[in-house]
Amino acid sequence: MDRFEEFVSGSRVHGPGGFADEIERLAPECGCPECPTYNDCSEGAGERLYCLIGRSFGCMTENLGCACSRCRLHRELGLRHDEYCLRGPEAAQRFERTLP
Ligand code: SF4
Ligand code: SF4
Repeated sequence: MDRFEEFVSGSRVHGPGGFADEIERLAPECGCPECPTYNDCSEGAGERLYCLIGRSFGCMTENLGCACSRCRLHRELGLRHDEYCLRGPEAAQRFERTLP
């Protein structure tokens, strides 16, 4: 298992609330608010942590670049991808790359 897989399985050890607790703990550290693609709509909706939660609910209108590679959580969680607000979370992007 790599770091991301360990994080996901570790958070689930604590039951259905475990992952939600991790989301709440990590949300303030998400670097998305510093990204040019992040906008007033996503801020108003309280969107964060697209890498774990999933893509934006319709707020992203234009890709103006991605700050994920400069985010501390990107390194700490061993993430491989980016543009999560537009392309979906890390788990989904990993799965998509396994498809023929
Ligand atoms: S990797 Fe990207 S989406 Fe995930 S917490 Fe960091 S800035 Fe936010
Ligand atoms: S996922 Fe990447 S592109 Fe989207 S808002 Fe966060 S840093 Fe910007």
